[in-house]
Amino acid sequence: MDKIKMTTPLVEMDGDEMTRVIWQMIKDDLISPYVELNTEYYDLSVTSRDNTNDQVTVDAANAIKKYHVGVKCATITANPQRKEEYNLKQLLPSPNGTIRGILDGTIFRAPIVMDKIKPVMKNWKKPITVARHSYADIFNGTEYHVEEPGTAELTFRNKEGKELFHATVCEYEGPGVLQSIYNKDKSITNFARTCFRYALDTKQDLWFSTKDTICKIYDGTFRAIFQKVYEEEFKEEFEKAGLTYFYTLMDDAVARTVRAEGGYVWALKNYDGDVMSDMVSSGFGSLAMMTSVLVTPDGNYEYEAAHGTVPRHYYRYLKGEKTSTNPVATIFAWTGALKKRGELDGCQALQDFAGKLEKACIDTIDQGIVTKDLVPMLEGVEPKAVNTDEFFLEIKTRLNQMMV
Ligand code: NAP
Ligand code: MG
Repeated sequence: MDKIKMTTPLVEMDGDEMTRVIWQMIKDDLISPYVELNTEYYDLSVTSRDNTNDQVTVDAANAIKKYHVGVKCATITANPQRKEEYNLKQLLPSPNGTIRGILDGTIFRAPIVMDKIKPVMKNWKKPITVARHSYADIFNGTEYHVEEPGTAELTFRNKEGKELFHATVCEYEGPGVLQSIYNKDKSITNFARTCFRYALDTKQDLWFSTKDTICKIYDGTFRAIFQKVYEEEFKEEFEKAGLTYFYTLMDDAVARTVRAEGGYVWALKNYDGDVMSDMVSSGFGSLAMMTSVLVTPDGNYEYEAAHGTVPRHYYRYLKGEKTSTNPVATIFAWTGALKKRGELDGCQALQDFAGKLEKACIDTIDQGIVTKDLVPMLEGVEPKAVNTDEFFLEIKTRLNQMMV
């Protein structure tokens, strides 16, 4: 059989630790036998980022702007302990944060839902997709540890240097902490548009929640922009499709989500989205079953797994032990990217291949063959826990049968 050809490259961003091991296995065992992989490769491992002073991350983000589709492996965000562990020169910012900053997109995180996997929340029947605004707020905030008595002030000056706003934030009698955050109407508008578009594309209602009772100006601006974009650009299409846009206070949205049936897109500010997506993914069963895609309003897509580099498994792997690490979200990052590449290039064969690889994963799990993390989640089938190598072999066998 001829391998499927790719006319345009995919931006491939390699990463760290256990997910880097899995990354190579996905390419070698599941994709390369069937597809002539055409990628532009960027090594985003923590040492490569350190060696290039993070230039490689910036280059990768710019490549996504050029080719419109990327797939990213989980990466380490260095902290002092990691700096020592990997002998790094510096503490670079989170590569995801850097890429999001350059692309100014929205992250949609959706669980991979299967027949035999039952969510912890028994009432969750359909996926809940969390849309996280991935620009600024605390992720680009400025922080300071105050060491002595003094005054913190907030000032805004326009281009001509005229002071338009001034406030005393705090009079410190002694040590304390100080932080400032910002956002921009343009980014919030893009966020709103991307969310409404995604909800329409996937035929789901859109929820949006903030804490605008407390942050009347900050969160109030988010709320107002969403309402304006809805009324001016999407109301008609939403009504035609029988879909709803629903704004509610953050606290209320959290309470409703716990009791909901699912089947909606929940738009959230950057920090809320970071935290709530972890709640939603654990509620659906496993962080290893959560996919994530960064979408920009000008049509760029970056796919990844929502989990990290799984270091605890990696340390065992380095000692030569077999681990039972779940590769499904990373595989679905690849299939999501291949599908989108195929869609943009008009290559049906690539889209079909990606669909078959997903089905091979789903069939394996629905037949009870799972990595350890999924054992407690299975219902209606006798679980058989396997290690990572065995799990890959099971998927490969099923994929092979579909590809003949
Ligand atoms: P993590 O790598 O997601 O792992 C946390 C725990 O979740 C694991 O120890 C494991 O539990 C379980 N788990 C996660 N993914 C799994 C999988 N595929 N299969 C089986 N079990 C899985 O999170 P972390 O330990 O907090 O962070 C590790 C590193 O990843 C950090 O350096 C962080 O900076 C980075 N990180 C990167 C991203 C990203 O690139 N998108 C996201 C988050 C974190 P058990 O040990 O109990 O089996
Ligand atoms: Mg998080």
